[in-house]
Amino acid sequence: MWRHSLLFAAMLMILSAGAVQAESLKARITVLSVAPARVRVEGERSVATRVWSFRNVYAGVMNLGERIEKLTLADSNGLDVPVRRLAPGEYQAASAATRFVYEMKLDAPLWETEAAHVSWLTNERGFLMLGDLLPLAVNEKEIAKMSATLHFVLPEKWTIAASTKAGSDGQFEIADMETAIFFVGQNLREKRQRVGSMEFAFVTAGEWAFSDNEASDLAVSLLKDHTSTFGNISKNRAMLILAPFPRPTGADRWSAETRGETVTLLIGKSPSKTAALAQLSFPLAHELFHLWVPNGLALDGNYDWFYEGFTLYQALRSAVRLNLLTFQDYLNAVGRAFDAYKSAQGRDELSLIEASERRWTVAPTLIYNKGMLAAFLYDMHLRLKTKGKRSLDDVYRELFRLSNTFQARRDGNLAALAALNNAGEMHEVTRRYIENASAIDLSSAIAPFGLRVETGGVRTRIAVGENLSGAQRDLLRKFGYNEKLDGTSIRRKPVRK
Ligand SMILES: [Zn+2]
Repeated sequence: MWRHSLLFAAMLMILSAGAVQAESLKARITVLSVAPARVRVEGERSVATRVWSFRNVYAGVMNLGERIEKLTLADSNGLDVPVRRLAPGEYQAASAATRFVYEMKLDAPLWETEAAHVSWLTNERGFLMLGDLLPLAVNEKEIAKMSATLHFVLPEKWTIAASTKAGSDGQFEIADMETAIFFVGQNLREKRQRVGSMEFAFVTAGEWAFSDNEASDLAVSLLKDHTSTFGNISKNRAMLILAPFPRPTGADRWSAETRGETVTLLIGKSPSKTAALAQLSFPLAHELFHLWVPNGLALDGNYDWFYEGFTLYQALRSAVRLNLLTFQDYLNAVGRAFDAYKSAQGRDELSLIEASERRWTVAPTLIYNKGMLAAFLYDMHLRLKTKGKRSLDDVYRELFRLSNTFQARRDGNLAALAALNNAGEMHEVTRRYIENASAIDLSSAIAPFGLRVETGGVRTRIAVGENLSGAQRDLLRKFGYNEKLDGTSIRRKPVRK
């Protein structure tokens, strides 16, 4: 589903570039108890400050600051500094302080959708995410990265997994606190392997209907597919944490976030292996792609329509390439996105760009589903226009190439639109579906591709039209269309044995 919160003030950063000095921090995080879930955090930061801020809202999860208790501060000589709470997560010290001790309640969030985004602990396991556990950098508005040296004290028999390995002294050296995630618990199972030049770690816990190898093999095949389409990710290192939800939940539920190089995926338990693997494949394809977009791009701002909506479409393409989905599955997924878009509130009042600015306040349905439809329509148009010479994949490749040349981070909306427009004469498509708030008329939008909407059902079903032109046939074949299997001429005839 998602990632990062820190990418808001691109302009500020550009204005003040050079003035930013990275802060660092040393901390010891002790799990005091798991029922109730409670940790103690003590440490020292490199920059003395009177303003102490902790993350209060993240990815739509509210009131995180309310979890903090018993905050005490001291200066670098160890002398106590009185501190006053101004608001949840906001404190003011009487004078500049560096040392801190506090406790934090880490009960699992009540809403399953929140479980991949914030720290929590249960009797068996949990997540420690530094972005909501530790004080924020003094100059956070300037997006300075804060480095950290960490030591964990965990319950007996618990171990820890993170994309960064601990040193021989058991301490973790973290370059960017915001993106650091630690999976802790009993009986964690970890498998490390190389995928091309990438170092990939798969970590899981609990019981699943599939084996650990089946899940990691699926992840590896998706990573290979993304790599062969888009090239290596810059860090060449990734970790997938596949975990059960902290509370009982439906088999079809999942919650995920890709932060930095760590993909966290929580998924409900399906009793059947086939169903469980099928259920895993789509969110996994989506999340793993976030290692490339947006996490591998030097872009900022609310361009969610691109890094979420278009990513849904890329995950779908990847699943088709790997034969996890058929051509008809592909069309069905587009039909489902259309139905979701049709049911989204205010669907034709906001453009995708405007909707992306309000992702957590308006229903995200629009950004995901209209964004995916826009990607589908764009990809089909570009392929048709260029006789299959170009596709959306080329747009991504160009975006990665450009992003690598950027001296500073840039606005994601401008960069993504420019890349989409530069791939061909595509202004009409981007203006209509991305920049303007115009409605999607699916029947007429897909007619040029040789596709039609079948009427009569409750759900929108897309099928291949009759009398395909050569160009349309070539286009659809690229998505796995096979006249013999998918063709309308066969369907009309009785099957002969
Ligand atoms: Zn996502």
